[in-house]
Amino acid sequence: MEQTLVILKPSAVERRLIGKILQRIEDRGLIICGMKMMKLDEKILREHYAHLVDRPFFPSILESMTASPVIVICLKGVDVVNVFRTMTGSTNGRNAAPGTLRGDFCMSGQENIIHASDSVENANIEINRFFKPEEIFDYTPSNLRFFYGADELK
Ligand code: ADP
Repeated sequence: MEQTLVILKPSAVERRLIGKILQRIEDRGLIICGMKMMKLDEKILREHYAHLVDRPFFPSILESMTASPVIVICLKGVDVVNVFRTMTGSTNGRNAAPGTLRGDFCMSGQENIIHASDSVENANIEINRFFKPEEIFDYTPSNLRFFYGADELK
């Protein structure tokens, strides 16, 4: 089953939104197969946001993402990369649709509470960036058959 990488950013941790976001993840039926708190540093952020390092706002991203510890999560589910990007909403919280995490909990393009991998390829790279193999628990919940039809799990 597909996996994706989620980061609850300092804007979620500092605003005490961790519980609400985890509740939405569990309510949707996504499986948490890895989760920890960590402090990000410039080295890992330069890798993670390599597509943005030359942008004028990159120093601001660095400051924002190192302002407090973050929660990193590995999620599992059928088509979970797309499902969770849709749950996350547009980058700028002011444009994000109501019902999405950003659309319900934030008003900013930078302080937008959450990161979600944007492709299966990047998800695999990002999971390896933030987790050691032994920190991922690829278990199957016993009630999975009540979350998906048999054909969807093939
Ligand atoms: P997303 O997080 O939706 O995948 P991007 O990969 O484009 O979006 O951007 C990564 C993160 O960089 C954003 O989530 C946001 O925190 C920050 N960011 C993006 N654009 C800006 C901007 N113009 N000004 C400040 N921060 C930005």
